[in-house]
Amino acid sequence: MQELGGDPALAQRIYQGLWQGGARTVDELPDVGAAWRSALRNAAFVSMLEPDLVLASDDGTRKYLWRLEDGHRIESVLIPDGDRLTLCMSSQVGCAMACTFCLTGDLGLKRQLKASEIANQPLQVGLQLAREDGRRITNLVLMGMGEPLHNLPNLIPALTNCLHDLGMNFSHRRVTVSTVGLVHKMVELAEALPVNLAVSVNATTEAQRRQIMPITRKHSLAKLIEAMERFPLPNNKRITIEYVMIAGFNDSLDDAARLFELLERVRAKVNLIPYNENPDRDLRTPPHDRVKAFQHYLVSRGLSCSIRTTRGTDISAACGQLGKARQQATEHGWLSDARRVAGFAPFPTS
Ligand code: SF4
Repeated sequence: MQELGGDPALAQRIYQGLWQGGARTVDELPDVGAAWRSALRNAAFVSMLEPDLVLASDDGTRKYLWRLEDGHRIESVLIPDGDRLTLCMSSQVGCAMACTFCLTGDLGLKRQLKASEIANQPLQVGLQLAREDGRRITNLVLMGMGEPLHNLPNLIPALTNCLHDLGMNFSHRRVTVSTVGLVHKMVELAEALPVNLAVSVNATTEAQRRQIMPITRKHSLAKLIEAMERFPLPNNKRITIEYVMIAGFNDSLDDAARLFELLERVRAKVNLIPYNENPDRDLRTPPHDRVKAFQHYLVSRGLSCSIRTTRGTDISAACGQLGKARQQATEHGWLSDARRVAGFAPFPTS
């Protein structure tokens, strides 16, 4: 707006019109004169994601598959849980980290998402919910497709729009960025934004972690733990340790004991995630009593530890599965039914 010779008050009206009013074209911006509309149309456009497929699970979880301008597709997942309505967002098309248990890892990195493509996920889902029944997204997690810290230059402006009080106005306490442990980027994120950090640990020895998370060859488990110990956390925050439990691989009480030792000097809470089985991997979900025993070991020693409930299994909830769901839907000719199931009203196009 400065370059165009506009004043700050007009810039603010435009910003709020986009991020709070949900204007999807320059013409929908309120309180902007005709001359300015014309100038804006020549200088910029309002970008948006095209909803390709939306599936609703019996448990209320909803999956969005978005089609990008260049034909690539990304996913977001809306998860209701009591008072919470969490949107799990993507940060990249595919992912370079190649974690062996993850289907997105199979794709490799296709490209970075632009800041607008990240921020449009909560914006467009939020607008749809407001129109449907007035519900609001309460929490954002960057745990969808991609490694968010591998796309920091776009993640930071995207989340700035999510957090800004003239933008989507999410509390920083309700925004969590998850990483496989890109050690050098963790502090960069903390210096830019006061959001929560989650670290996907998933193993308790270097060799075990190298087997499922190739990033361990570059950033060892020891270096990751050290980085978490030194991480500049505000007093009231803790790092969430994500631990995907795979039967017979990392679910023993010896693993629990090693995890407890590793985290001794980290201000942490643990989230156990029983592996979500799928036909493309020969990996199994541990029996529930084994997961409970693991949790009990940690909790009885004073470490906060929760178990994540598996959601949306009937609509291919796990990371990377939705792309496959679309392929099946197209093959079986029920794509439009799937849209109707979700009660999805297509967004107006600009
Ligand atoms: S688990 Fe996350 S970081 Fe690992 S391959 Fe999948 S999307 Fe990438």
